[in-house]
Amino acid sequence: MVLSVVHSQEESSSSIASCVFASRYIQDPLPRYKMPERSIPKDAAYQIIHDELLLDGNPRLNLASFVTTWMEPECDKLMLEAMNKNYVDMDEYPVTTELQNRCVNIIAHLFNAPVGEAEKAVGVSTVGSSEAIMLAGLAFKKKWQNKRKAEGKSYDKPNIVTGANVQVCWEKFARYFEVELKEVKLSEGYYVMDPFKAVQMVDENTICVAAILGSTLNGEFEDVKLLNDLLVQNNTNTGWDTPIHVDAASGGFIAPFLYPELEWDFRLPLVKSINVSGHKYGLVYAGIGWVVWRSKEDLPEELIFHINYLGADQPTFTLNFSKGASPIVGQYYQFLRLGSEGYKKVMQNCMESARLLREGLEKMGQFEIVSKVKGIPLVAFAFKNQNKSLAFKLSKALRHYGWIVPAYTMPANAQHVTILRVVIREDLGRQLVEKLLSHVECALGELVETPTMAPKVTFTIKVRPTKGNLGSGGDGGTLHVPATSLYWEPENPEVIHKEVQLSDGKTKGVC
Ligand SMILES: *Cc1c(COP(=O)(O)O)cnc(C)c1O
Repeated sequence: MVLSVVHSQEESSSSIASCVFASRYIQDPLPRYKMPERSIPKDAAYQIIHDELLLDGNPRLNLASFVTTWMEPECDKLMLEAMNKNYVDMDEYPVTTELQNRCVNIIAHLFNAPVGEAEKAVGVSTVGSSEAIMLAGLAFKKKWQNKRKAEGKSYDKPNIVTGANVQVCWEKFARYFEVELKEVKLSEGYYVMDPFKAVQMVDENTICVAAILGSTLNGEFEDVKLLNDLLVQNNTNTGWDTPIHVDAASGGFIAPFLYPELEWDFRLPLVKSINVSGHKYGLVYAGIGWVVWRSKEDLPEELIFHINYLGADQPTFTLNFSKGASPIVGQYYQFLRLGSEGYKKVMQNCMESARLLREGLEKMGQFEIVSKVKGIPLVAFAFKNQNKSLAFKLSKALRHYGWIVPAYTMPANAQHVTILRVVIREDLGRQLVEKLLSHVECALGELVETPTMAPKVTFTIKVRPTKGNLGSGGDGGTLHVPATSLYWEPENPEVIHKEVQLSDGKTKGVC
């Protein structure tokens, strides 16, 4: 006697039920925006979601992003092992906390922070450079406000001076935390902040000047040393105390290994804080950034919260509370595993790929290279004839080969320049670069073959007037066709490119 039948007929009837594609779950409609009433088996859930995700782009071929898409299997394993740890439970996971502290110190030393042998560096891990920049910006704002208050001066109109090439997170900081962003405009052929113009824009309400080491748009390093020297002079002349923040999101792990002689970091006295994305050239998957301060004095104590309800007293300065511990473990793995030697070799390989790509593109004769040889390993290029739509079309054509290469217009005052950008990450080696070049050539061929002009239409209308239905004017007369009744309908309607313009703010969130 069967006491209970808990499975549906289908599930218990035969072994075929164990094959997801033979089950009804593959055909059942899924409510998209509401939670389904019934549970489904785990293998069916896995397969359904896995299959839908097949339609995402391939991360390895996504050349739009600086963010890491490949790590060693050993590190994948470590990160999986740490997946169920909440980083914020520092008292429960003291070793993870210790690893983050080691990373902060490693980075501070890499950036030449004046940290004594027995001293600890000041800094935190964040979700990315955006959070790091919010924290650094808040520290500058607080410090400036405290100083102004002490001097009995107004402290309600803080501003930051940056180049118009800043990443969108600076605009977010400005809007969310009510700081005016004063952007130095770019010009054709000069796509980074001009230090002379920046210093001219500084006033008594400037909480910091933000320089970028590795412009998001073309990878170029801004001249932080020149900015520092000009600002030192300006501070002496005015009696102000304007500091510098370096947004080294992409360049922070490039410059120390490829250009150790380049002075852009804490070697310059006015540089008070630096952010870097661990998930860019720090070589860790998405979810980690860092911010380090020159010294304790540069991080106002009132921004630090001390929590003790998870155990011992823990200082924290972050925007979020809980977050995964895996990226911190991944970052520490990379430092330990690669060492300076490994990072240098990885970056050299990236530069070599960038060189191959740049030279290959130059040979094609149609492009002008907009990125610099020195800087982030990326190749930004524009069509020589400045045909805006060609860049977008090439970007689209490359998609058919699997490559994601973004095209975008430059910010003010270089909006008329449209560029394409290929970011070289460590997993884009010579073989792939050569393939990419050959696909660019094929795509260019397709662009030439595709008529870009509006189609010419010729048609003849034969009119044989019949008495009565074309008026009563006899044989002579004019046929009137209302303009609204004539239209052209292409056989394959297709949107070539959609440009999203916001009335205010950045149009692109390239990262
Ligand atoms: C990527 C980037 C950011 C934002 O960093 P996330 O780590 O993605 O938050 C900020 N500034 C620059 C210069 C960048 O390249």
